[in-house]
Amino acid sequence: MTTSRARCLLFPALAALVAAPALAAPAPLAPPGEAAEARAIVTDLVACGTRHSLSSWTDPQRGAGCGRDAIVRRFQAIAARAGGRLQVVVDRYQTSGPRTGNVAVPMENVYAVLAGNDPALRKTAFLVSGHLDSMPSNVMDPRADAPGADDDASGVAVSILSAAALAGRPGGFRSTLIFAAVAGEEQGLLGSRRMKEWLAAQGYQVGGMMTDDIVGATNGSPDRRPRLFSEGGADGAGSPGREMARLAEELVGRDRVRLIFRRDRFGRGGDHLPFAEAGLPAVRFTEPLEDYRHQHQTPRLENGVRYGDLIDDLDFPFLAAVAAVNQRLLAELAAAPAPPRAAVLSGAVTPSAKIAIDAADDPERQGFEVLHRETTEARWSVLRTVAAPGPVVLEGTSTDNEFFAVRSVGRNGARSLAVPAVPAPQPPAGAAPAPPPRG
Ligand SMILES: [Zn+2]
Repeated sequence: MTTSRARCLLFPALAALVAAPALAAPAPLAPPGEAAEARAIVTDLVACGTRHSLSSWTDPQRGAGCGRDAIVRRFQAIAARAGGRLQVVVDRYQTSGPRTGNVAVPMENVYAVLAGNDPALRKTAFLVSGHLDSMPSNVMDPRADAPGADDDASGVAVSILSAAALAGRPGGFRSTLIFAAVAGEEQGLLGSRRMKEWLAAQGYQVGGMMTDDIVGATNGSPDRRPRLFSEGGADGAGSPGREMARLAEELVGRDRVRLIFRRDRFGRGGDHLPFAEAGLPAVRFTEPLEDYRHQHQTPRLENGVRYGDLIDDLDFPFLAAVAAVNQRLLAELAAAPAPPRAAVLSGAVTPSAKIAIDAADDPERQGFEVLHRETTEARWSVLRTVAAPGPVVLEGTSTDNEFFAVRSVGRNGARSLAVPAVPAPQPPAGAAPAPPPRG
């Protein structure tokens, strides 16, 4: 088992060496018909004229409420097909910030909740989210046209397509999946912050969160892979989001996703940030090449240049492919055991690294994979598998030269996020700390 997994992990690296620099088009992950479905969803949302968060929430023809209605209708149709396993929630709230004039205003998020079927994991939620709101050139103008086809009807389409793909999955999932469309992104990530509070109030732990924002166009890019942004962290520890990104790439292959090891595009942000800032696993998907004339611009023709975020610019087979990557990752995480609670690394000044694995009991868990990588290497390989929690000694493997992590593996084969193996926390202030070994 160790050998076959190691080969699976290493093979993409070898394939990339052989195939570089040309990227052969991978076989599509998305089922046929998915691109047409994506187009239908975006068409409905664009027809609302604007979905600005400060526009009307009650007019069925124009504004954010029109967008909400289109999303609720889609989720409800999916819920009906899934035999009522999917619950559609409209979360109405008041929120404020500099981009509401610091005045409390009403906004609404839509969540489609697919409850997990394992009592121990049901309160762990994995989320996919797009933002339903849009903006014209002036972020404070709720009246101008703001079709928001790419930003971010495309991301909302990923949420809806993912619900459609996963809600009827036979046997369901161990953990809960939440397919979200939130308001207020353009007004300062207000809807995403609200969603995080709502999850806590409902008693959910966030197992992982991905936002899809501007995932609908390729703009002539020769590289058709979506970019997947994940932030870094302390030396060797990475971040939970980074582990999510690594797992996504491992699941779908390097030719279907491009990892970017930074929190977001340079100087910009998105709905994953409230989650990432809280230390939760959170990542962002974005198209390979953005066209800034088509973002945050009131539609117009100016000196022969067309501005505006219109449906004509979208690439629906690409959008369907992005949705398929999201679905693969969501399905893996929601089927997997919980990650280890901790993996404590020790073994300084000895020839062998030691890892103490702590994990809750789980009869559906087959065991754990101990992962390692060179300090200069971005990706994990499987070093060995172990059946039970407790201490593991990696004979002849120095703590100095590599990074380590541990993940859980289910009897169904699904893998959890990896947990970096790090030293035990320092004793609290006041306790006499052990001096570090010298050398
Ligand atoms: Zn956006």
